[in-house]
Amino acid sequence: MAPHLDLNVIVVGRDGFTPDKLQQVEDSLAIMKGIFATHGPEIGTVLRFHIDVRDAGHLVVIRSRSDVTELTNRWAVPNAALDLFVVDQITAEFSGTSPIPGRCPKRATKGKRAPVVSLRGDKAFSGNTFAHEVAHCLGLNHCELIPSICGPANFMATDPGANTGVTEAQATRMKTHCFVSP
Ligand SMILES: [Zn+2]
Repeated sequence: MAPHLDLNVIVVGRDGFTPDKLQQVEDSLAIMKGIFATHGPEIGTVLRFHIDVRDAGHLVVIRSRSDVTELTNRWAVPNAALDLFVVDQITAEFSGTSPIPGRCPKRATKGKRAPVVSLRGDKAFSGNTFAHEVAHCLGLNHCELIPSICGPANFMATDPGANTGVTEAQATRMKTHCFVSP
């Protein structure tokens, strides 16, 4: 098998999502898969999990970086795959966030442990957000910090919008991360 990344998609407050929002989650995952498929690592097995509104409590909407820390340290799927938390809304200035890089094996941290993404914008925008934050977790920094491995309209620009460009150099770097299986 080609280098691949297994994912646990954890939808926070899923029972409060409208059918349109649930569809946007699927569409965003498909766009993310497309971005990674360009040069790899491929998205491998995707397992689905959810946290009910009642259990999520105040974390059903992410309002701050401390909410991100709390959410990603309260829950973790006990397997080796990367946990990707999906929330409907982040009311802070960011659309998603992630440790750069994420650590494996998983363990609680003082800061954010795993990527958290929102459905801000249309599916093209949120699909990019999903890919961008997962790539941060795999160790990629913003293009502005490492312009030598970024092409134009790159998904790792600080403010990428719906850009989906990804370079072979970025893929090569991501494939060295411990969440990626050979
Ligand atoms: Zn970023």
